[in-house]
Amino acid sequence: MLQKLKELENEARLKVKNAESLEALKEIKIHILGKKGELTTLLRSLAALDPEERPKVGSAANALRLELEKLFISKEQVLLDQSRGDKWSIEQIDITLPGRQASLGQKHPLTLITDEIKEIFIGLGFQVAHGPEIESDYYNYEALNFPADHPARDMQDSFYITPQYLLRTHTSPVQIRVMEKLAPALPVRIIAPGKVFRRDDDATHSPMFHQVEGLAVDRDITFADLKGTLLLFAREMFGPEQKIRLRPSFFPFTEPSAEVDISCIICEGEGCRVCSDTGWLEILGAGMVHPRVLEIAGYDPKQVTGFAFGMGVERIAMLKYGIADLRLFFTNDLRFLKQFV
Ligand SMILES: [Zn+2]
Repeated sequence: MLQKLKELENEARLKVKNAESLEALKEIKIHILGKKGELTTLLRSLAALDPEERPKVGSAANALRLELEKLFISKEQVLLDQSRGDKWSIEQIDITLPGRQASLGQKHPLTLITDEIKEIFIGLGFQVAHGPEIESDYYNYEALNFPADHPARDMQDSFYITPQYLLRTHTSPVQIRVMEKLAPALPVRIIAPGKVFRRDDDATHSPMFHQVEGLAVDRDITFADLKGTLLLFAREMFGPEQKIRLRPSFFPFTEPSAEVDISCIICEGEGCRVCSDTGWLEILGAGMVHPRVLEIAGYDPKQVTGFAFGMGVERIAMLKYGIADLRLFFTNDLRFLKQFV
């Protein structure tokens, strides 16, 4: 009987050693240690032995069972490690493959134009200022000389958060916020780029668009300073041959006020479809800061004067790049956006 156990042990060790997969090992384990396995069957035959021999053979058989169980566990571990190792070797990185190019983002055309505008005015000694996009009625209208029932409010219909707070309709509130902070210090020279909102939506209007506000306040600032500044801007932005034209206009917060045109960049003044045969393109609104606005913001209009202007960034970008539909700026089509570097 002990001899049989020894044979079984040798056979089991050999089979386990040669097992090549977890499935094969499982088969062997069932074959030896399973309910109908060889060792189990052998243990059942103990009953037929002499009573003196029984304990000896019994404990040897139990020792063998424990031994074999350990053997199966350690072989199982070896096979598991091997199969993981195989997987890793398949997934190894092939360092000879060409690299994958990471695509880099680039600036949006409106950011490019805003940066260009900023650079021109920073060169003239202006500083960049910012204000909130949710603005109070006071800063958006009241302090800019739009009283509550003023008809000019109709031209800038907006989105209201509450009756007192709205999405700002222009960047002009930043004029007031900056002057309030600085008064009575001089000079004030700022530009304020940012998003503005109006209830418009068509090929040349979007409910959200961008403006750059400009403000200069000092002693002895005249309309000539305004005109000279805007002429320089037009030439930096659209070319050294640019001419500008000022037409009388109305804004509640400037007096006098003007619409500013540049000579048409397509036909150079000859007249074409883009400029409606006038030879001129409107690019911004401007004027001398209204004395009442200066006063509200903390300056003495008898001592100081100032000029202000506001331009639409989309309008400038459309003219500069020859874009017909403003909505292209906001539909995130990479074929469109990738053309501007
Ligand atoms: Zn033209």
